Amino acid sequence: MSHDPNCIFCKIIAGQIPAKKVYEDEHILGFHDIHPWAPVHILLIPKLHIASMVELQPEHAELMGRMAVLAPRLMKELGVSNGFRTVINTGADGGQEVYHLHMHVMGGPRPWAKG
Ligand code: 5GP
Ligand code: ZN
Repeated sequence: MSHDPNCIFCKIIAGQIPAKKVYEDEHILGFHDIHPWAPVHILLIPKLHIASMVELQPEHAELMGRMAVLAPRLMKELGVSNGFRTVINTGADGGQEVYHLHMHVMGGPRPWAKG
């Protein structure tokens, strides 16, 4: 299914739920996470509804590559200059809560660092 009417991220893509967008093209949408874990925390999602990495097919390789190439570009545009963290949670044990594939990209001073 290319669009799931019950999926919260598909609703963001369709403009039915507002989001603070940072990037959009034909294939990919980027927006700020509603509950940031870092000073700059964005999500990159494919416009195609792919539930998780488990559903990825060989033809999605270029799409995933586009997301990876976008991450450093957007961090730079958002003023992140000292590195960032990327995370893709997959499935229940992977801590995935929203079943529309997304890449977390988190930058700024590391609030998760211990000590
Ligand atoms: P997951 O645990 O699935 O990897 O992460 C889902 C992420 O989506 C969470 O960090 C959560 O804060 C974010 N999120 C969930 N619902 C919304 C929403 O409606 N808008 C935005 N901007 N982020 C959301
Ligand atoms: Zn979706």
